Amino acid sequence: MIAFFDRSNREIMALQLHDTLQGKKVAFAPLVEGEVTMYLCGPTVYNYAHIGNARPAVVFDLLARLLRRRYKLTFARNITDVDDKINAASIETGKPIDEITARFIAAYNEDMGALGVRPPDVEPRATRHIGEMITMIETLIDKGFAYVAEEHVLFDVSSYEKYGVLSKRDLREMIAGARVEVAPYKKVAHDFVLWKPSSPEIPGWDSPWGRGRPGWHIECSAMAKKYLGETIDIHAGGQDLVFPHHENESAQSCCAHDGAPFARYWLHNGFLSLDKTKMSKSLGNVLLVHDLIKTIPGEVIRLALLSAHYRQPLDWSAETLEAARRMLDRLYGAVRGVAVSRKARTAADIPDAFLAALEDDLNTPKALAELFGLARALNKATDATTRKTLAAQLYACGDLIGVLGDDPDAWFAGRADGEMSAADIEALISERTKARAARDFEAADAVRDQLDAAGISIEDGDGGTSWRRST
Ligand code: AMP
Ligand code: ZN
Repeated sequence: MIAFFDRSNREIMALQLHDTLQGKKVAFAPLVEGEVTMYLCGPTVYNYAHIGNARPAVVFDLLARLLRRRYKLTFARNITDVDDKINAASIETGKPIDEITARFIAAYNEDMGALGVRPPDVEPRATRHIGEMITMIETLIDKGFAYVAEEHVLFDVSSYEKYGVLSKRDLREMIAGARVEVAPYKKVAHDFVLWKPSSPEIPGWDSPWGRGRPGWHIECSAMAKKYLGETIDIHAGGQDLVFPHHENESAQSCCAHDGAPFARYWLHNGFLSLDKTKMSKSLGNVLLVHDLIKTIPGEVIRLALLSAHYRQPLDWSAETLEAARRMLDRLYGAVRGVAVSRKARTAADIPDAFLAALEDDLNTPKALAELFGLARALNKATDATTRKTLAAQLYACGDLIGVLGDDPDAWFAGRADGEMSAADIEALISERTKARAARDFEAADAVRDQLDAAGISIEDGDGGTSWRRST
């Protein structure tokens, strides 16, 4: 095992990560000493990212920050800009595909930026890598892992004996239990598309199999290979991607590369629910980051997303936000009035316990508890030098997890004691929306009165309810 040393030459534990394939927490060591490659499945750009989509972006941004302390990291997060949902959005809105994807790529980066998510090292777009995908598909056909049928190319799952290992599924049972109607060109239901034909009105590229477009899974395999190599250290994404997306990526890449492992550690974040229900467009309970950041500081949203362990489910509610805001009040309250230069912040030692918590499979709840311990010590300290040292450490910890970037006075500015916070206002508005949906107009009016009394006026419009503080 490789030993690590901190700046004071103390030996520190290796980073521990939970690997989905092994089903347990394991010590992390990269393939090439000192260097790490990481791939995160990014957004499909046909609308704004919702708060659930922000969870992997924020969580794995934290992991990237942590990895960069020790290693030279190459982090790729792709953009899926060819997809049937994008085609559907183009038909629905009458807008050209490129206009839709350009708009939502920009919005995604802006919204994630507001949450403190740093840009990845590479952000490859699927449509710019069609050639690489075609090459990989040709390799899979040549090696006997894929077949052409009716202008489609399909991956032959029964040709790969490890199919199902990542998601712990038994292929024979899956095939026996398949209820879906099998497309006539497939040998078995679970064979998945590598390439499919495009009708003239939708995007398509010339290929040996006719004009068409790639399947979703091959995008990630081809782009990961191009930027990170055949075997990557860490592959990350939301839990829903384990099957079929990651199982399929893994199958394609391993088969194209003569069995070389695709990813050495598979990391998956748990799901975020909204007021204990699944977020879904049809239920009308989708919270867009784009909207949230209009009224809630990005740091509050980021800390709320990090307040639960990343593998656990996270229920998002007004209380989640309120709790995060209160946490930041405590942290900013502690450093307020202590002048700490940028240089002192960067030079400060990050306390071992804080780092150890993060390096223990990103145990953010524990790390935050350590942070509050530090804030308490700072509040108690009276000696100016000790206060400066503790404040610098608090800032350094904040920098690592992507909070405390504001000036403490600015954080509290404009918020008179007792003034209703944006999170509280949002919570009341969402309560009112729910009451109205349930036709409980009395309850809805009561909320409006409460907001009125707090000096908040609201207005209902097409995009939902907006609010402002009355002057
Ligand atoms: P999509 O654009 O749907 O492919 O999703 C982008 C990323 O967000 C993927 O890594 C998904 O696993 C993740 N994701 C989608 N919905 C949620 C959710 N409710 N909670 C956590 N992660 C999610
Ligand atoms: Zn992917």
